Amino acid sequence: MDTILNYIAGKFVPSSSDHFIPNINPARGEAYSRIPDSNADDVNLAVEAASMALPIWSKMPLEERAGYLDKIADGIEARLEEFCRAECVDTGKPLQLTEQVDIPRSIQNFRFFASAIRQFSSESHLDASSLNYTRRDPVGVVGLISPWNLPLYLLSWKIAPALAAGNTVVAKPSEVTPMTAFMLCKVMEEIGLPQGVFNLVHGSGPSTGEALVGHPRVKAISFTGGTSTGKRIASVAAPQLKKLSLELGGKNAGVIFADADYDKALARTVRSAFTNQGQICLCTSRLLIEESLYPKFRDDFVSRVRTLKVGDPLNRQTDQGAVVSEAHFNKVLSYIELAKSEGGKILTGGKPAKAESGWFIEPTVIEGLPMESRANQEEIFGPVVTLMPFKSEIEALRLANSSIYGLASVVWTSDLNKAHRMAERLEAGIIWINTWMKRDLRTPFGGMKASGMGREGGLEALRFFTEPKNVCIEF
Ligand code: NAD
Repeated sequence: MDTILNYIAGKFVPSSSDHFIPNINPARGEAYSRIPDSNADDVNLAVEAASMALPIWSKMPLEERAGYLDKIADGIEARLEEFCRAECVDTGKPLQLTEQVDIPRSIQNFRFFASAIRQFSSESHLDASSLNYTRRDPVGVVGLISPWNLPLYLLSWKIAPALAAGNTVVAKPSEVTPMTAFMLCKVMEEIGLPQGVFNLVHGSGPSTGEALVGHPRVKAISFTGGTSTGKRIASVAAPQLKKLSLELGGKNAGVIFADADYDKALARTVRSAFTNQGQICLCTSRLLIEESLYPKFRDDFVSRVRTLKVGDPLNRQTDQGAVVSEAHFNKVLSYIELAKSEGGKILTGGKPAKAESGWFIEPTVIEGLPMESRANQEEIFGPVVTLMPFKSEIEALRLANSSIYGLASVVWTSDLNKAHRMAERLEAGIIWINTWMKRDLRTPFGGMKASGMGREGGLEALRFFTEPKNVCIEF
């Protein structure tokens, strides 16, 4: 079985740990490679390499540094098909999704930050007797930790701004989906990125991730993953006063008013609930529907969901692939059982999908659950959505905000004033009106409440990965 190697100081190297984690194809339920469960010594080597590379990378002329990011984008693009297929096999998500979203957006992330850093400027403040200007220097060696649901996309969303701003990087992808991160290292090698600028260590959260977070020479941690992991990371990083960006879980509401463009709202809501088997932090898992529209919307929604094709992720006709792992499969099914015990009525789905092997779950729609139920409060992160009617705008707001999370909300209405009122009062970092997952890379991305701390995206990311230093000169 192939062993995926770490990438340290420009070389593929084995870990000094003799523990390995199997890398499983979730559509087959079989291991097809393995990664090392890297330890603190491996992390230390990677941090040393990144520290050695910092003086050259951080002082490199901007145009040259940005040029490397463009080359990384070109390098992924040159192997587009290979990357799309690898992401599909590693995650179980449909190939068409990796072709339309994951890999093109990963390429865009590098192109965007190559361009953004060329435009980035710092502030200056002038008065009659003094000039203040703010330097934006790189933070130093930064640690980047990513989850399994959009593996290359979310990792590149961190690597690109970190490198663009002049930092050197130690990255740790999810142990559940390591393949495209490994392939990215080959691109870094091929384009001749100076050694040590980008390092990648594979392994589990407790051994590899925590060693990275706790390393005293790592000056900032950018993390995307679950809320409980985020809290744990904060407890390790905060005493060392590290800069932290935490993009965490969600339980997003989609609010559908009776005055919405019905066909568009219906079609997009099926997508917002079930894209990537519901395993996108931005998926709407609680659908709130205005009472007068409820019976029609529910019936049409369920009919549409029943047409989703669950099956082989490599087949381009497939809408729903496998969920990412056996453990996640069991977790999602246990939440469906919980929802039933809490009084939920399964309108469609509710069980494993028929398959010869692998971890497939039927897209599941549930109604009749109170908002306080655990199934409506806890993150399931799978192909499961709940429906609930509301009578008024106030009630819709109350229900949508009845969550510890605050990542994204979607509102469907043709009343512009109502849309603005909802946008102001919804407790979420991202609000979509009459759309979903539409991304402008310049905008701030992230959540409030238990969904995180800090923002990624555009200038927010470049600000996170730089240290502001004010210089005041008196005339
Ligand atoms: P996870 O928290 O289990 O793992 C995420 C990463 O953290 C992995 O690389 C893991 O190895 C690492 N990790 C685990 N424990 C660690 C520790 N103690 N120290 C350092 N690193 C550690 O999350 P997951 O199951 O991979 O991903 C799903 C979660 O991610 C969901 O909660 C989802 O909502 C969230 N997510 C959030 C966003 C966002 O932008 N807010 C985007 C995608 C996913």
